[in-house]
Amino acid sequence: MTTYTPMMQQYLTIKAEYEDAFLFFRLGDFYEMFFEDAIKASQILEITLTGRDAGGEERVPMCGVPYHSAQSYIETLVSKGYKVAICEQVEDPKQAKGVVKREVIQVITPGTLVEGKTIDNKSNIFIGCAERLSEQEFALAYLDVSTGEGNSFIVEGGIKGLFQQLQAYNIRELVVTEELKLVLQEQAANLGIVLSIENEEMEEGKASKYLIHLPKKCCGAAKYLLQYIEKTQMRSLSHIKPFAYTESKQYLQIDANSKRNLELLQSIRGKDQKGTLLWILDETVTAMGGRKLKQWLHQPLANRTLIEERLNTVTDLIDEFFLRDELRELLRKVYDLERLAGRVAFGNVGGRDLAQLRESLRQVPAIKEKLLESNKEMLINLANKIDACEDIEDLLSKAITDHPPIAIKEGDVIREGYSKELDELRYIARNGKDWIAQLEQKERERTGIKNLKIGFNRVFGYYIEVTKSNLTNIDSSRYLRKQTLANAERFITEELKEKETQILHAEEQSLALEYELFVKLREQLKEYIPRVQQLASLISELDVYLSFAVVSEKYQFTKPKFHDGKSLKILGGRHPVVEKMLNKQGYVPNDCVLTEEKNMMLITGPNMSGKSTYMRQVALIVIMAQMGCYVPCDEAELPITDQIFTRIGAADDLASGQSTFMVEMLESQNAITNATERSLLLFDEIGRGTSTYDGMALAQAMMEYIHDHIGANTLFSTHYHELTALEEELQRLQNVHVSAVEKHGNVVFLHKVKKGAADKSYGVHVAKLANMPQEIIDRAQTLLEQFESQQVGGAKQEKEEVFQLSLFEEEPKQEKISLNSNEQEVIKALQKADIVSMTPIEAMNLLYQLQQSL
Ligand code: ADP
Repeated sequence: MTTYTPMMQQYLTIKAEYEDAFLFFRLGDFYEMFFEDAIKASQILEITLTGRDAGGEERVPMCGVPYHSAQSYIETLVSKGYKVAICEQVEDPKQAKGVVKREVIQVITPGTLVEGKTIDNKSNIFIGCAERLSEQEFALAYLDVSTGEGNSFIVEGGIKGLFQQLQAYNIRELVVTEELKLVLQEQAANLGIVLSIENEEMEEGKASKYLIHLPKKCCGAAKYLLQYIEKTQMRSLSHIKPFAYTESKQYLQIDANSKRNLELLQSIRGKDQKGTLLWILDETVTAMGGRKLKQWLHQPLANRTLIEERLNTVTDLIDEFFLRDELRELLRKVYDLERLAGRVAFGNVGGRDLAQLRESLRQVPAIKEKLLESNKEMLINLANKIDACEDIEDLLSKAITDHPPIAIKEGDVIREGYSKELDELRYIARNGKDWIAQLEQKERERTGIKNLKIGFNRVFGYYIEVTKSNLTNIDSSRYLRKQTLANAERFITEELKEKETQILHAEEQSLALEYELFVKLREQLKEYIPRVQQLASLISELDVYLSFAVVSEKYQFTKPKFHDGKSLKILGGRHPVVEKMLNKQGYVPNDCVLTEEKNMMLITGPNMSGKSTYMRQVALIVIMAQMGCYVPCDEAELPITDQIFTRIGAADDLASGQSTFMVEMLESQNAITNATERSLLLFDEIGRGTSTYDGMALAQAMMEYIHDHIGANTLFSTHYHELTALEEELQRLQNVHVSAVEKHGNVVFLHKVKKGAADKSYGVHVAKLANMPQEIIDRAQTLLEQFESQQVGGAKQEKEEVFQLSLFEEEPKQEKISLNSNEQEVIKALQKADIVSMTPIEAMNLLYQLQQSL
């Protein structure tokens, strides 16, 4: 075995504990890495790989980064999904006997990296933890280490459901047990989610204060997460608030897929915010407000009183135009209070942070006052909740200078008047000579020696010089002889020596004292953290309300009305994103009226006519309204919706490698099994992914099922024109179509939704618009005419075939056509089939068998 130098042995011992991290090993002014770490890091960070003699035969691979610029290297590694363990010298190298003691003081991981250039202030950085409760259920707990906010809820839908939530909340690091890691690792790797192992829970006594709002089911996940965070961060977690619990009933549930399909926070095409609902709604001026808006977008409310409270607050702000601008101006001067509070807790606030905290707090009394002056009920309520934290501002004003530097060891942080001792030291440092002159004067008066003087030399320092003729006048108990000259003696006094040290070290001491005072202040501030957090929460809410007021006015949104029934009425509705993209010109508003008697809509119309836009706009209006925002329409009367399910194309699930059709079926199955009569269902082109009859049959069966068993508000779009006949059968179904007209052989989309079914397919015309070669267009036109003429008799038959497949018909329509025995068997089998409890695969297999038996 190689005998390494003691330092290298120390390195290896520490490294053994942090195998999954790059160990940044502090050596003087550098963090060094060795062995494998060095080889890998030198490639990733593009830094030179060198070597170091470490007692073995061969030099040990080594690379390093200067400690003062380490942050950006750490960020690079962490943003690529690695972890970095920071190992510092924990004793003064000058006093160390043997190797300097070193310890890891923090492990920075993708979910706990809270500072740096790559951090988007308007986004939370979440680290999550999942615990498996059953085959289908996980408890998910997650929190933002920088703000101390945590949340927890139960995820359904098994592993797939879990990953969807992780993506929806942008959770990059998930803490799991070793066992669970094995199950999740492949898919996690595909999605770029880092799995970190934690096999221990934080003990109950320590964890309990964080768990007060959680049901038992979620406590495990929270405790593993807390344990992991404590182990990696190794510092005060006093800013971490009790986890919140999202109980599904309180919020409008939108599954992760639908969030993506509806482009609430992320556009389908990319990570870009442009084109999302967030892009429309975000006029927040603080980072905290930006994050709060995202939270509200993730979880719109489902409680009428709370929604109306939000809406009324927005109304008040819309009414008060000038106040709104004044408030926004004030808010612009408010820094990120949540993250500042987090840094106070972490013990890494600097002088500048505290100045920012102070500057932020200084705005609060004016904010509060303006709200109170408004005479608006909701604004006054909000103001009354605000604790202006004047005592904290006062403390900071007294303690911290106007423009403190970032570094806290270079002085200029603590203000004059905060500490007598510090003032004196500074005075001495600045006015040492004055002080000496004063002492000289004092000593002359005391002794009566007029020519007594104080001088300085390098050997003795400061001294008092008395000529020989005056020696009898000195107080020999105070004066200590230091040096004898020809005609004078030089003395020191205790006071003079003391001051001398003070003068000579005043600068040094004042810096040290300043640091000490700063650290004390930082400690003292910890007790104020909950108040600052509470304030931050109210300020960020106000910011979101203001944002809603601004966008409502900017885009001419209307205040929605809610009722306790189930009907939904939107008049002149618009899709806010498409409208903005079209620059307001030419967007055609559309109504959507679903009554309790007719709450299902079948939308037909050619491709590109606007079916999908229409369905999405209904969902977006429902979501915006339940967030508490005004909505893009002339009039809206809405029910409280409990869940939104969408099956909208274009979101092929590449990561899980499932076929498009399978995804379509899974999403539909999810909707059908979980929807209630208070849900909103959107099905865009169901059954497109399979053959015509197959698809049509499924589409019809699903509509019938929703009609008979769920009763949810449902919008269904299809290009299976045959389905429009269902209106006659399903009482609550109404046909609408998106119109288009033909002009000079070209199709013109009117984007207008009208009653009744569409009557013609415009596929060929769309092909023409797409500049398809004329030859193809002509040929298609001819074929279409042929098909149409052949279909006069055919269409009817096809319709009947569709009805044969009517899966939920109470009584088979035997009278219509006579069935052979095979067909009768098929119908029996269908009637017996328990569709609700079937998996989609089973359903498909059944369908296949039935088809084969015919
Ligand atoms: P479909 O689902 O019927 O194929 P889309 O909903 O995707 O059609 O709409 C196609 C395009 O038509 C959209 O990208 C949009 O630019 C435009 N469009 C849709 N609805 C409207 C409308 N109400 N007013 C103006 N343009 C619209």
